[in-house]
Amino acid sequence: MDSLESFAQAKLAGLEAGALRRRLVPTLRGAESSAERGGRALVSFSCNDYLGLSHDPRVVAAAQGAVAAFGAGAGGSRLVAGNHPVLTRLEERLARHKGTEAALVFGSGYLANLGITPALAGPGDLILVDELAHACMWGGARLSGARVVSVRHNDVSDLARLLAEHRGAHRRAMVLTERVFSMDGDRAPIGDILGVAEAHDAWVLVDDAHGLGVVEAGPRAPLEMGTLSKSLGSYGGYLCASQAVIDLLVSRARSFVYTTGLPPASAAAALEALTILEAEPERGAKPLLLARRFTARLGLPEAESAVVPVLVGEAEAALALSAALEAAGFLVVAIRPPTVPPGTARLRVAFSAAHDAAQVDALAGVLAALTGRS
Ligand code: PMP
Repeated sequence: MDSLESFAQAKLAGLEAGALRRRLVPTLRGAESSAERGGRALVSFSCNDYLGLSHDPRVVAAAQGAVAAFGAGAGGSRLVAGNHPVLTRLEERLARHKGTEAALVFGSGYLANLGITPALAGPGDLILVDELAHACMWGGARLSGARVVSVRHNDVSDLARLLAEHRGAHRRAMVLTERVFSMDGDRAPIGDILGVAEAHDAWVLVDDAHGLGVVEAGPRAPLEMGTLSKSLGSYGGYLCASQAVIDLLVSRARSFVYTTGLPPASAAAALEALTILEAEPERGAKPLLLARRFTARLGLPEAESAVVPVLVGEAEAALALSAALEAAGFLVVAIRPPTVPPGTARLRVAFSAAHDAAQVDALAGVLAALTGRS
């Protein structure tokens, strides 16, 4: 048998050979999309802080005030002693924002997806997942013990075909997709998906991690989950749904029941950010406008969200392009398999209300020169 050490070394060597080994790089994020790596100041296009609220003085003050008043941690799970009233206030506001009866805050978006699906589906049930859905949607589906089937990306006729084929043999069915896909930035046809799902008596869970505050138009699903860590600039996850579904999850979502409650400061920051998001709609419009400016400059397909992929292909080439951009003063991290399918390594460019047009033009100019697109 391999020793633990030789097992780990051999695995690492394999990753290294394919340019797929990850390394942690100390990164200091500042206000206005600034970042610092190795003592160098960079403009970051790799943050999910789409509205620039993680450094907003009002959001920071809300977090500071909550830490001073309520402490650094929750001190227990929500069902024991960790259910600070600020979490309940945040849940009421999230539900109002999404137009649902209720909401439930989780420790993170990842934990939300790991808890929601297994609480609603199990052996004997069917779960249809978009092939490009986030790892935690897949994780929740697999944990449930239901039959899990991959749906071709954003392909409603494939969804209809799979439901027609498999629905009858299963007790319940769920459809899992994202409003805005995290690594491609494209939007799902939610209205069409809801229609097909209804026709086959299937429930729809939409992951709105990258949509909230940026891409708000369009129909909403009965199950809408997301994160407090992107446009809300804080940390944590949530599900918005009917009161009965939320009440069931309070008792049955294992990633809710058996984990410590979110720190009150994270909830206070997210609550303040949600207030700003609703009060300042022009802030939410800006990332998409900047993303469209960028795609127009580079002749790329028009951006549908704050996320724009610049496809490269091989992992090594994506790393080299990212390094060249860093040398030019931009932080644009390369995304490699298995986060994206093999052969589709890319730069993932994320736009924020904290960017200005000159920064976007500068990035587009450097990228055009580096890739011969100019
Ligand atoms: N869903 C999607 C689509 C995501 O992109 C992410 C985070 N990258 C998550 C869920 C997980 O959210 P969190 O970071 O709050 O765990």
